[in-house]
Amino acid sequence: MSNVKLHPSLDNGIQPALQGFTGGLLRCHCASDAVEVRVDSPTLHNHACGCSKCWKPAGAKFAVIAVAPRDAVTVLSNGQKLKIVDEAATIRRHACTECGVHMYGRIENKGHPFYGLDFVHTELSEEPGWSAPAFAAFVSSVIETGTPPQQMAGIRQQLRGIGLEPYDCLAPELMDAISTHVAKQNGTYREA
Ligand SMILES: [Zn+2]
Ligand SMILES: [Zn+2]
Repeated sequence: MSNVKLHPSLDNGIQPALQGFTGGLLRCHCASDAVEVRVDSPTLHNHACGCSKCWKPAGAKFAVIAVAPRDAVTVLSNGQKLKIVDEAATIRRHACTECGVHMYGRIENKGHPFYGLDFVHTELSEEPGWSAPAFAAFVSSVIETGTPPQQMAGIRQQLRGIGLEPYDCLAPELMDAISTHVAKQNGTYREA
């Protein structure tokens, strides 16, 4: 098994979600005039992500990212420091131009399966109780950010060792949700 730095929220023991948790405040890494985003909801589908687009803290191989209803996500302070990383990307990631932290990612395409959900990094919050990371997505993509392919078996084993099943796309229930959405749009959806 490998012993790489996956992400601080994974390497230092996964914190469990708390019952009755109602949300909290995300702060960017700026020492002064930090961007603050309030999430008035618990998060869902928290997971490790190996893609090259999600923001990761220094030294981490994976991002840890969850979703919350977009209506529950509000920029509270210093929103003028936010800029969309890539306007053309499906997920428009709003990043702090000073420290580089991504504060929320939003999908504007109303036809997208995940429209209505914002992507957030709850490690930016000091409140305990957010949903715990439960699987690892786009694991093979860490090769694209400089991981030797020979390390992949060990990394997958390391992820399983902390209870995260590694997937090279999203987890099956999310892939099913995407295909269900597409089938409904195409008129090919059938109930059992
Ligand atoms: Zn910042
Ligand atoms: Zn990602």
